[in-house]
Amino acid sequence: MRVILLGAPGAGKGTIAKLLTQVDGSVQISTGDILRGAVQAGTELGKQAEAFMKAGDLVPDALIMGIMETRLQEPDCAKGFLLDGFPRTIPQAEALKTLLNKLGIQLDVVANIEVPREEILNRLTTRRTCVNPQCQAIYNVRSQPPKVEGVCDKCGNPIVQRDDETAEAISHRLDTYNQKTAPLIDFYRQEGMLLTVDSPSSEGIINAILERVNG
Ligand code: ADP
Ligand code: ZN
Repeated sequence: MRVILLGAPGAGKGTIAKLLTQVDGSVQISTGDILRGAVQAGTELGKQAEAFMKAGDLVPDALIMGIMETRLQEPDCAKGFLLDGFPRTIPQAEALKTLLNKLGIQLDVVANIEVPREEILNRLTTRRTCVNPQCQAIYNVRSQPPKVEGVCDKCGNPIVQRDDETAEAISHRLDTYNQKTAPLIDFYRQEGMLLTVDSPSSEGIINAILERVNG
């Protein structure tokens, strides 16, 4: 399947994307994970992105489009992809439209995951992420703690609060989302691609998406 997951930071795009990969082998593409990996590896891309990310600002569109143009042409995308955290701005959405046309790829759906702001704030402040760039597993100190406090179940590395998950950076990221990313909802509504999902359970969200994709 070829799906874009839209939603505020903390809406659960990554969780839903991971679950959907198990359905048909489509790959999850998270620009946030790619960028964090680049920062940790100290690559040129990482150096250019780091300050923006730490402040909770968006990384420039040109940098993101460079990553995605390459990524979408890798062989593992042939079975399909779940875009998680991309596009994030109208220019990225326009550029993606041009790129998909060029590659002859048709999207199935753009799923907008709606979660109340209070729940989002609650989730982000309690979220913890594995420091291992190859793992990046996500935990929640309240609802989904690791078996051993502070240690990743999957790879044994420490789990930490991300630099951009301090109260200040979170509120800035939510403002950025409202200003820059929320307009994509109307963009994709006009394209006839939008599906709004607001189920409180991951299962409900997955089912709604699959119904649209397979229907
Ligand atoms: P979340 O969805 O939890 O906010 P992500 O992991 O998707 O976090 O992104 C983390 C940071 O990486 C963003 O705050 C931003 O700085 C950068 N980033 C990720 N994807 C994009 C994108 N498509 N365009 C611009 N910046 C991005
Ligand atoms: Zn891990």
